[in-house]
Amino acid sequence: LNPKRPVYRFGPLNSGGKIPLGLKRKGLRIVVTGGAGFVGSHLVDRLIARGDSVIVVDNFFTGNKDNVMHHFGNPRFELIRHDVVEPLLLEVDQIYHLACPASPVHYKHNPSLTLFCGYKTNVVGTLNMLGLAKRVGARFLLTSTSEVYGDPLQHPQVETYWGNVNPIGVRSCYDEGKRTAETLAMDYHRGAGVEVRIARIFNTYGPRMCIDDGRVVSNFVAQALRKEPLTVYGDGKQTRSFQFVSDLVEGLMRLMEGEHVGPFNLGNPGEFTMLELAQVVQETIDPNAKIEFRPNTEDDPHKRKPDITKAKDLLGWEPKVPLRKGLPMMVSDFRQRIFGDHKDNGA
Ligand code: NAD
Ligand code: UDP
Ligand code: UDP
Repeated sequence: LNPKRPVYRFGPLNSGGKIPLGLKRKGLRIVVTGGAGFVGSHLVDRLIARGDSVIVVDNFFTGNKDNVMHHFGNPRFELIRHDVVEPLLLEVDQIYHLACPASPVHYKHNPSLTLFCGYKTNVVGTLNMLGLAKRVGARFLLTSTSEVYGDPLQHPQVETYWGNVNPIGVRSCYDEGKRTAETLAMDYHRGAGVEVRIARIFNTYGPRMCIDDGRVVSNFVAQALRKEPLTVYGDGKQTRSFQFVSDLVEGLMRLMEGEHVGPFNLGNPGEFTMLELAQVVQETIDPNAKIEFRPNTEDDPHKRKPDITKAKDLLGWEPKVPLRKGLPMMVSDFRQRIFGDHKDNGA
């Protein structure tokens, strides 16, 4: 991590988190909202390993206790079942705000559900966590998304691009929810002096992803393991850039500890069409896996790839794990969860 990162104290509130140089850094008290989810649980592992005390706040909408169960019994770990749409009183040094119904089955395929849940969680939930940050002088990191660029007219996407979002489309509860969350964060930063950090996360995959969340990597991997055809939506020529979860977590922690507000693109610039992704999954799991074309969902972005120059220059960060290295790690986790502990059970 950045050696220049500020040193925080584990103590009284409104300290801005800083202690005089020379005093030893103690563990921080950190809230991770959405910490029982895919990305959050990997982040929690790193924070606990670093010696911090972590409070996970999660309503288990898409997350799962199994993801953090290995920390039960650790006195530096707490799990609170709570919906961030409701106010929350805690005393902490840092807030990683990840809580959000993030997977497409929840906002694309069942938009009536998330039109309410997704947008409201992003807006009211973020407002509450910013209110908490303001009250206790905690640093606040928002996990925004590449979806703020919508169906981008600029490629690759740079942080200065304002995006091309349909404000009333099926994805808008998510896209506009995150855009509003960014606005709220900047408002609290400028207006109330809250130390905020904004990450724009590009498609991320890895162990502990929800098996049936409808995202393309989890769909293809689960389908190939179950000997079902891989469902390619549309003509399969649309592109995405896939980042392994450990790279993302490293980026989030550097961003939190660094001096820059952002926003920062955090993603792997390795760009694939969905047909190419299907091919990598075939190579990794089953060369005989079939491909089946399905109609695409509305407003699907045609291409997406992060420009990560800013994160490289200011955070000294870049992803290390290419798709062909990361995918096998996800496959063994999926294999275990789908078939139980017997590795070669039918797959
Ligand atoms: P996830 O669904 O696994 O995790 C989200 C967590 O938030 C879940 O544990 C869920 O139960 C919890 N949650 C949802 N609504 C809540 C609420 N109202 N109150 C409390 N908890 C709530 O998704 P993830 O992939 O781990 O995503 C984490 C964050 O990163 C999200 O904010 C997401 O928008 C962002 N992000 C992820 C990706 C990606 O590709 N994984 C890409 C861009 C942005
Ligand atoms: N809030 C919270 N925990 C706190 C402080 C605030 O959940 O420790 C919530 C609070 O309920 C409010 C939101 O954060 O809905 C914004 O708080 P702020 O103090 O900025 O606004 P105000 O309450 O003055 O409208
Ligand atoms: N997709 C696909 N097959 C699937 C699921 C998704 O071809 O089974 C496509 C989808 O149409 C989109 C891309 O994969 O073009 C990425 O979709 P995902 O929902 O994973 O992420 P997002 O669209 O949010 O980037």
